[in-house]
Amino acid sequence: MAVSLDIGALRARKPAEPVNVEATKGDGLGCHAGKDAMRAAAEAAGMSETLEQLRQDYPAGPHDQPQSMCPAFGSLRVGLRMRRTATILSGSACCVYGLTFTSHFYGARRSVGYVPFNSETLVTGKLFEDIREAVHASAKPEDCDAVVVINLCVPTASGVPLRLLPKEIDGVRIIGIDVPGFGVPTHAEAKDVLAGAMLKFARSEAEQGPVQAPRGGRSERPSVALLGEMFPADPVVIGALLEPLGLSAGPVVPTREWRELYAALDATAVAAIHPFYTASIREFEAAGRAIVGSAPVGHDGTAEWLSAIGRACDVPAETIAAAQNRILPAIRGALSAMPIEGRITLSGYEGSELLVARLLVESGAEVPYVGTACPRTPWSEPDRVWLEERGVTIRYRASLEDDLAAFHEFRPDLAVGTTPVVQHAKERGTPALYFTNLISARPLMGVAGAGSLARVINAALANKPRFDAMRDFFEGVGTGFAAGIWQDVPQRKAAPKAAAPVKPVGEMA
Ligand code: SF4
Repeated sequence: MAVSLDIGALRARKPAEPVNVEATKGDGLGCHAGKDAMRAAAEAAGMSETLEQLRQDYPAGPHDQPQSMCPAFGSLRVGLRMRRTATILSGSACCVYGLTFTSHFYGARRSVGYVPFNSETLVTGKLFEDIREAVHASAKPEDCDAVVVINLCVPTASGVPLRLLPKEIDGVRIIGIDVPGFGVPTHAEAKDVLAGAMLKFARSEAEQGPVQAPRGGRSERPSVALLGEMFPADPVVIGALLEPLGLSAGPVVPTREWRELYAALDATAVAAIHPFYTASIREFEAAGRAIVGSAPVGHDGTAEWLSAIGRACDVPAETIAAAQNRILPAIRGALSAMPIEGRITLSGYEGSELLVARLLVESGAEVPYVGTACPRTPWSEPDRVWLEERGVTIRYRASLEDDLAAFHEFRPDLAVGTTPVVQHAKERGTPALYFTNLISARPLMGVAGAGSLARVINAALANKPRFDAMRDFFEGVGTGFAAGIWQDVPQRKAAPKAAAPVKPVGEMA
């Protein structure tokens, strides 16, 4: 693709809107500043349009923003997992420290670019110039297909205009996104911010002319793109479910390399396995692709999903019925071979919470409560309806307080949840599993999902006697008078002397 880049003009150009100097004063910028202060600063810096789009894509209600890690981690992770993609952060050093630490903790094995700033470079516009220079230094066509620049809270609140970066340098695409914690509620949705921006770019490239074919060539069957990060075996399982419909599994979005974006846009339909990818869905719809919600989990979920996908791809009704007859008995068999007995509360911030709950209910578990940090969207409506018909209370944008209240109200045999929920449950002698590492990192789809989930859940439920023994053994340790760091063996303090009786006023000398 031809590149037309007027570097000289860009160097001379000042940002379209001056950065918001007021926003840089005092102690007003950071998680601790409060969302309202940050939003007001960003609006004053000309970011109203960006914030309005984020508000529409990622609505905050009915509950407040859930407690979660820095949202920008979602975008960073998507960038770091893509081949031939450089990712650069622009933000406060403390934010970048936390984000790089977390990304390497999760095995990024890739450098994270960072453009530091101070008050002066922020207010004079030099930060934007530094970012532009970093982009030029990184955009080497022999190394990269794309360079991603992520504005964190302070540069977003100050209006650092990434939209003025060149769109392309020597064939390397430049993607600038604003991912402020005061505009994107969860790290899950931040994945969509970058995936949507990349799809938008790839769609405009595809509209202009021929684009790179998929690595393995174009599928002979109509394909279904899969939306949402999932366990690596799940796309394979979904491919096997699609095969009797005469369809194939397309790429998973967020993709692992740039050319997969074209293949995803080329799909006949899109399966919104994770239902919160609003910006990505907007791009697929603009490309004329049908979107199908829910996922092939359990017996009922798979039956409904095969029907919906078949209809979206114009598969004859008898072919859909034949596929269901072939697949569903095996799933029913797997579910009944591995039943789950017990009451389970479930909460998480991955976006697959409702799907996991369906699988638990079909396995025989009693699930009174599901909390998800993600919002209610049209793409999870089939799951909401199915679960509520079975008496499950669903809390969207659930806060930690919601999840803990559910734990106390329903007194589950097992709590599946976020780290603080798990810690809370274990302290009370209730077995608990961390959703992100132990549940969402397993196959969930088709037959594989039915057996796999039951194994880990049943193992955890069986741990109750061990928790009781541990709680009895450690009872009182690290709490009350035994809390804190002691150089000597802590001693109970003698009870304070009783105060001398106060004489009635009339008896005073
Ligand atoms: S970028 Fe993340 S860590 Fe930094 S202030 Fe924003 S939300 Fe907090």
